[in-house]
Amino acid sequence: MRLIDAHCHLDLYPDPAAVLATIEQRGIYTIAVTNAPVVFPACQALVSTSRFVRPALGLHPELAHEREQELPRLLALLSQTRYVGEVGLDYVTTEGADRAAQRRVFAAIVQGCALAGGKILTVHSRRAVPDVLAALGDRFPGQVILHWFTGSARQAERAAAQGCYFSVNPAMVTSPNWDRLIATVSRERILTETDGPFVHTHGHPAQPADVVSVTVALAKQWGCSEAEASEQVFISFRRLLGAP
Ligand code: MN
Repeated sequence: MRLIDAHCHLDLYPDPAAVLATIEQRGIYTIAVTNAPVVFPACQALVSTSRFVRPALGLHPELAHEREQELPRLLALLSQTRYVGEVGLDYVTTEGADRAAQRRVFAAIVQGCALAGGKILTVHSRRAVPDVLAALGDRFPGQVILHWFTGSARQAERAAAQGCYFSVNPAMVTSPNWDRLIATVSRERILTETDGPFVHTHGHPAQPADVVSVTVALAKQWGCSEAEASEQVFISFRRLLGAP
């Protein structure tokens, strides 16, 4: 099975080189997201010789209010990578000033990506789906992956209509919303992720190979074999990348 981990914090494992070695050995296509522009160069260096891992430049919404001054640095680094994340909005905070800072940061990143064109974004949208979709607009000239989507079925439909993909992780497959999300979104828009090391599975921080548990759940939901589910995700990932 060809595995895809579309959202992994490779740089946040205790031993990133060991995780990277497993990724290479098993051939797992991985988007290595980062949470602040200051750590991007180290992630870029770590995966520079990897066949399977692509480094993503990010500024996590939960850090936006304290790191907004790093925005120019992020925009300056944009030309160095096609992948952008983790970015987005998180409205768990009810602090108006923090939410406003998040919106400024995300809007500036979306604008920078739109100017460049062809970027692939992995986007956080907890409790903030309508504002995330509004910031992206209907004609964003790139690809958007909504990571760990927890919005309503209606919001999922709207996001899919705007062209978004959804990357689903091992924690999501056991949530009450899982069946509804998978029933709502067409399978061509589904990707897999771990969000490791934040997501735990079987009592340990998820590693890229743990996307297999998502593939198993997708196969069950789609009524197909695990090999077919894995192939479907691979085809969707290739389409997202614009591969022929
Ligand atoms: Mn994440």
